[in-house]
Amino acid sequence: MTVGVASKLLDAPFSHVINGKSVDAKGAKMLDVIDPATEKVIAQVPIATKETVDQAVDAAQAAFPSWSKTSWDERAKLLEQYGEEFKAMTPELVKLLTAEQGKSIMFSQHECESILPWFTELAKIRLDEKVKHEDETHRAIERYLPLGVCAGIVPWNFPILLMLWKVTQALITGNCIIIKPSPFTPLCDIRIIEAAQKIFPPGVVQIVVGDDNLGPWITEHPRIQKISFTGSTVTGRLVAKSCSATLKRFTLELGGNDPCIVLPQQSDMATAAQNVLLSAFFNSGQVCIAAKRIYVHEDIYDEFKATLAQVVQNFKVGPGNEEGVMFGPINNKMQYNKVAEFFEESKNKKFNFISGGEVEKKEGYFYPLSIVDNPPEDSKLVQEEPFGPIVPLLKWKDEADLIKRVNDSQWGLGATVWGSDNAAAERIARQIESGTVWISRMVSHHPAVPFGGMKSSGIGAEHGTAGLAAYCQVQAIWLPK
Ligand code: NAD
Repeated sequence: MTVGVASKLLDAPFSHVINGKSVDAKGAKMLDVIDPATEKVIAQVPIATKETVDQAVDAAQAAFPSWSKTSWDERAKLLEQYGEEFKAMTPELVKLLTAEQGKSIMFSQHECESILPWFTELAKIRLDEKVKHEDETHRAIERYLPLGVCAGIVPWNFPILLMLWKVTQALITGNCIIIKPSPFTPLCDIRIIEAAQKIFPPGVVQIVVGDDNLGPWITEHPRIQKISFTGSTVTGRLVAKSCSATLKRFTLELGGNDPCIVLPQQSDMATAAQNVLLSAFFNSGQVCIAAKRIYVHEDIYDEFKATLAQVVQNFKVGPGNEEGVMFGPINNKMQYNKVAEFFEESKNKKFNFISGGEVEKKEGYFYPLSIVDNPPEDSKLVQEEPFGPIVPLLKWKDEADLIKRVNDSQWGLGATVWGSDNAAAERIARQIESGTVWISRMVSHHPAVPFGGMKSSGIGAEHGTAGLAAYCQVQAIWLPK
């Protein structure tokens, strides 16, 4: 791949995709999409009105009766074809993703590759009818019915992956889905939904783009049956409140402040340090399940700290389309300003930086990869989610105290434990209040494995039987024998 060349997918205009077609956006108010590495406008998208949402809902409602009657196997086949279309677009999508999101080409490629199993493996989890009870006269069966029109609200950190998680789950279960991408990253999502029109009937999968009014119009819409939302906890609460008026189903995948625990037993300190740093700085820290509090056992704290300081030098920050760059800018100005507060706290309170700390004023929303040496547990940096490349390194000694500190959080999304003592790692993992714990493994997902948050990190789960069931209404029928 040629680094630095604009994606061909930028050549045509971008618009909503409704009822099988790209909407003519002539005369619409437009929204700028900005490359966060240059702060320059790279494209414009139209801003939806309430009528745009109604048109998409009309089309979805019209498509639902026949789409919901297709068999699971038919839908599985169509999803597989969609996966092939998606793969064919990947070289250009990767460049477009780097341009609108900021992540390096290498990690844009990774995002496009990691979604592939959802086109093929997800369909293998089947929600078939089951007999749940039987007596002399009757057999009671359980069956899962699609809900109808669903909407997927997507954030800007993994616009492709997080959108396609929602699209594939909704479609395999026989629902129609309307996507609302983040106004910061609508471009790849539009192109991917355009490609879907070659495969699925009109109205089955659509996309509507817009400004801050659009989300609430969707969550309050009386003819949408379910919202699958991924984003911040603050917005998640608004979504839940809005959904309650129409008793909509919802799944919330929200923020996190994930602990990363480093055990005293390490077979290879350099590899552990490298993995911990990748977990913290992947996508420049803009990951819901990034390592956001690194707890290192005091016996190895100094050695681990020195190793981190060395390893971090190998990670290059810069424009995502530049050769050798691993980590790009923060995606948008609003988030850049939020991350600034964490740098300011560390400066004002004179915390020691193991790396980074100095923010250079230049073009693009860049921060250096910054590790703070043992700040107080009650600091903002330890208690809140920076969603940027700044992370605290903390000491622990006693396991019970560690668990108390780890669980003393409103969040409970993910956690990682690194160390060669598997029994100790498992013992710790089983006490952590989070939806997922990875032991000696980088954060990862699979269509068969549920992913969701505890406490303020979410409600419900995506993937696995639980994720698919959340796109369905369960029904029991008592059949006479
Ligand atoms: P955000 O909550 O600001 O926005 C998410 C989406 O919601 C966007 O599409 C936005 O336009 C839309 N939105 C905004 N206001 C709305 C409203 N009132 N009603 C309906 N929709 C509305 O989040 P963000 O800044 O885009 O993403 C970062 C956050 O997302 C972080 O907190 C991160 O941890 C979280 N996140 C969670 C997961 C997960 O799977 N749990 C994954 C990625 C990101």
